[in-house]
Amino acid sequence: MFKNTELFTYCYLGSKCDQKTVLEKTGIKKYVEIKNKSSCICAICGRTDMQYAVEFDRLFSDSFGEYSQFAGIQHDNKYVCPYCVFAIRDENRKLLGFITVADALKEEFKLIPIVGKEKAKQISGGLTKRQAFEKFFSLPEELQNQYLMVAFNRLGKKGTHFIHKAVVNIIQADSFYFTVNNEVFFFDRMKMKSLLDLIDEYKEKNPKTKTWSYYFVLEYLTSKEPLKGDFTNEFKILKILEI
Ligand SMILES: [Zn+2]
Repeated sequence: MFKNTELFTYCYLGSKCDQKTVLEKTGIKKYVEIKNKSSCICAICGRTDMQYAVEFDRLFSDSFGEYSQFAGIQHDNKYVCPYCVFAIRDENRKLLGFITVADALKEEFKLIPIVGKEKAKQISGGLTKRQAFEKFFSLPEELQNQYLMVAFNRLGKKGTHFIHKAVVNIIQADSFYFTVNNEVFFFDRMKMKSLLDLIDEYKEKNPKTKTWSYYFVLEYLTSKEPLKGDFTNEFKILKILEI
């Protein structure tokens, strides 16, 4: 199983890369070679096989406040592995989100960036949030037996670190996990379909309500209770993410 920043890096670069190569691609000149691998843990992902590393203080300023989110930080580790260094670059933090897939057998790595409408036209393979969402309905059949990672950045908060918080799945036929910043949600194709039908129905009955588009209705996806009755009441208790 890949660590999430490792899978992201391979997909971004289109193939597996050794740690030295990944580090060189970050453009960072000051790094260290780790002599005693077993005693060194990456402060971000917690991996224990670092061959090269960058000092944590070189990557984050004193005002950085998300330390508690890092897997290895509680051990007071001061180094970050090449994959995490690569994944948290400013360039990647500007993404709205991404889908990464790695074929476990063929090792074909793909990254689909999720970007704004204008950028989606410019970037080859780039999707808007809505297009990504639509893709989820056909994703499972296309991607049987593959590693998959889907993550979205926090709404309206450009520049937060989110890639290391993503979940890596081996995909199942109709469902998978995805991450919105530090929250993990379960995507169930059938449940989502029924909810979208309900939204369409509501739109028809209430044409004056604000323009509806697709929604991730996040808490609904993780709840066991079926939606019923007056949708407006149900709607109030749901956490939504407009796409
Ligand atoms: Zn790491």
